Amino acid sequence: MRETLILNAGFEPLSTVSLRRAVVLVMQDKAVVEHAHPGLRVRAASIDLPVPQVIRLCRYVRVPFRQRAPWSRRGVLVRDRHRCAYCGRRATTVDHVVPRSQGGGDTWLNTVAACAADNHRKADRTPSQAGMALSVKPFEPTPADALLLALGLKDGEGLPEWLAVPGPSVSAPALPATA
Ligand SMILES: [Zn+2]
Repeated sequence: MRETLILNAGFEPLSTVSLRRAVVLVMQDKAVVEHAHPGLRVRAASIDLPVPQVIRLCRYVRVPFRQRAPWSRRGVLVRDRHRCAYCGRRATTVDHVVPRSQGGGDTWLNTVAACAADNHRKADRTPSQAGMALSVKPFEPTPADALLLALGLKDGEGLPEWLAVPGPSVSAPALPATA
């Protein structure tokens, strides 16, 4: 898969994303193409774009890239887009895949968003003990995931609060020197 480099609005490199993600960001007017593959175009139903090698965000985004995202219930719901991992309906609770009573921890890989009904039904059991199948595989958000989650948020321009952690970050704008 071809990767595209994302620059922040101040031109500092942030991350790489798939070409498909890059095109979506440009189509949503969240980024502009800075460099494209010469002669290559992305063509789909209503799309005709140069194939971006580098895109730049239209708005400045603060992302604490040097940090691993700390686990939180809210973060799990955001990561899973409030979709229940068992039935796909709207999730308002966080389920421990391996229950805490069986040694499961508060970690990204052991927790999923779940609707209240499925969480109640599963109770203190693993999915196999409860005869329930996970439809998604829990993952730890990478910096690229974090950036995309931040960009995908409709309300507010900031990061989800689970990412807004104190500490070193790359948030200082590295603006090009003016002559
Ligand atoms: Zn459910």
